[in-house]
Amino acid sequence: MNNTKKKKRNNEDKVALFRSCFSGLSNVYGTYDPETGHSWQVKKPVTNDIILAHLKGKRPYGVYLLNGDCTRAIAADFDDLDPLPPIELLNAAQHYGLPSYIETSKSKGFHVWFFFSEKGVKASKARLVIKHILEEIEHSQTEIFPKQNCLDNGASFGNFINAPLFGGLVPSGKTVFIDPPTLDPYPDQWAFLESIERVEEQLLDEIIELNDLFVPQNQSVPLQRDSARGGRDLNRFSLPKCAQKMLQNGVFQYQRVSCFRLAVHLKRLGLPLDLTISALKTWAQKNQPNNGKGVITEHEIIEQTKCAFNKDYRSYGCNSEAVQPFCQSDCPLNKDSMISCKIDKDKTQITKTHGIY
Ligand code: SF4
Repeated sequence: MNNTKKKKRNNEDKVALFRSCFSGLSNVYGTYDPETGHSWQVKKPVTNDIILAHLKGKRPYGVYLLNGDCTRAIAADFDDLDPLPPIELLNAAQHYGLPSYIETSKSKGFHVWFFFSEKGVKASKARLVIKHILEEIEHSQTEIFPKQNCLDNGASFGNFINAPLFGGLVPSGKTVFIDPPTLDPYPDQWAFLESIERVEEQLLDEIIELNDLFVPQNQSVPLQRDSARGGRDLNRFSLPKCAQKMLQNGVFQYQRVSCFRLAVHLKRLGLPLDLTISALKTWAQKNQPNNGKGVITEHEIIEQTKCAFNKDYRSYGCNSEAVQPFCQSDCPLNKDSMISCKIDKDKTQITKTHGIY
């Protein structure tokens, strides 16, 4: 994002941009008292004046993201000062091609936002994918907004989430979007909002299919691939390219981890335990371990394979050092632009930014 030249935007432009990012139900919103923190619901139309009052710091606006069974954004709410879990989520999501953005919340903690195309996506799919990624990074307890898959399921409004850029808190570095490598707020929050990438439902479908996730409420996942994304051919009936290469050539290090990873893939293909063990015994003969180490034993192969069959492992292990040397740049799951975590672990203070008004 180029911040060198600040574009002039009037209030109308800012409200429109804000509403294109943070909108949902149009007849109700949430708010809170900045003094006491007490929050409540307001059953009135969400007008431009309500948004402007929020941006100017007069009255906070909370958005009910869920509209029917669709949402145009989803947020994971990390209720902790530690910035590493949100960054882990951002990196893990990036791995699936899902762009996400970190906002400092009003009191402590962070929101990680994902934005979808204007027509929105099924909330059930968005929630399923974010839940899955949170499980992968071992933060499955993190709250997700919207909290429900659809409104007609006993939830007439759902739950609101406090929207970013509350003018009363922006000067103290709260409710602003931050640059993950430095944790500094983007100097021009409006230019940042203009630059966000929005995701289509098709990508959620692909992630759901790749990971064999269960879509609730009979919402089927289309099997057709999106040719615009390069004709992806990675599905549960094929081995990822790293695994093909490992099986074909053998490995030279991390034999036990490699064995486990290969067993997970072969299990995913539908191979039974005994055939997987035989395939991996053949594979082991191709291994050429470094540093004079011995080839993985039959006993070790059986142990690793049983371990892989014991639980429903879904991860592709792409971050594993055993798998990395075999990763292929043309794999649909490959994302070179992972943001590296250059964070000082103790850095939890966000530097101040200027007001947006
Ligand atoms: S991204 Fe690389 S490591 Fe991950 S499945 Fe694809 S080839 Fe394997």
